[in-house]
Amino acid sequence: MGEFELIQRCFAEAGRKRTDVAIGIGDDGAVLQVREGCDLVITTDSMVEGIHFFPDVDPRSLGHKLVAVNVSDLAAMGAEPCWLSLALTLPKVDEAWLTAFAEGLSETADYYNCQLIGGDTTRGPLSLTMIAKGVVPKGKAITRAGAQNGDYLYVTGTLGDAALGLQLVQNKVEISKKHRAHILQRFHYPTARVALGQALRNIASSAMDVSDGLAGDLLHILRRSKVGVVVDVNKLPMSQALKDSCDAEQALKYALSGGEDYELLFTVPENRRGSLEVLLSPYGVPVTCIGRITGAVGKLEFKQGEQPFVYQHQGFEHF
Ligand SMILES: [Mg+2]
Repeated sequence: MGEFELIQRCFAEAGRKRTDVAIGIGDDGAVLQVREGCDLVITTDSMVEGIHFFPDVDPRSLGHKLVAVNVSDLAAMGAEPCWLSLALTLPKVDEAWLTAFAEGLSETADYYNCQLIGGDTTRGPLSLTMIAKGVVPKGKAITRAGAQNGDYLYVTGTLGDAALGLQLVQNKVEISKKHRAHILQRFHYPTARVALGQALRNIASSAMDVSDGLAGDLLHILRRSKVGVVVDVNKLPMSQALKDSCDAEQALKYALSGGEDYELLFTVPENRRGSLEVLLSPYGVPVTCIGRITGAVGKLEFKQGEQPFVYQHQGFEHF
């Protein structure tokens, strides 16, 4: 079998077969039927060897992560993920590697009800680019631009686990046996908050996903919404695994600036706050109020309880 057929075979059936794919893989382009009354939402994410992942990473987890990080962007817009395309640059065709990568990609696409509808393969340094497309009811996409003075700031799940995981896979920290699996899972197999993102359509005034760390990502909402924020660092949700694995100061650092948690960060106006917990309780993902939007445009402030908290933000480096 030629290299071309091998690649084709690996990805031929990736993901869920959707009825809205009129023409999928195999033609010059895919033909998709966007549901009546919906807007199309499109996002792109690239992962490059040596920048976003280590050369020895399990290709299965790489396939998973590529889908999950793209779908997470759709979730942050309140969109329902539908279709994926893949641009793959490979130094060589390694059948075992490709098979495992395609399996990780396929099972995760399937999980999120997405179908791979096309792609392209070239030769070169290992690099993976995915384009994810989803739909949202017309005009209902949640953006980064809607936060208003007085809104409450929330985050889903816990923060800092993936940053600790990154240290762990580089053997820079030690973690008790009890917590290793959780931290590695959070780093290698992030979960996109898809159902919750859709539930936020009529609740959140703005939203985004945390990919580069809370402190850095928050600035995007501040700039786009032309607001400020005060975050209480005592409120940041952290897993028991993180709290048990490092001292409080280090844990806080991971939670504030560690990337790749793929939790949703969103703001809620005061008058919709009451219904929030009831509406979100069926999703089984905890949401935590961590701060409040202010009118001080672009100003990111921290406090610790009632005390001011000085935090020198350093941008997150994938490694
Ligand atoms: Mg994002």
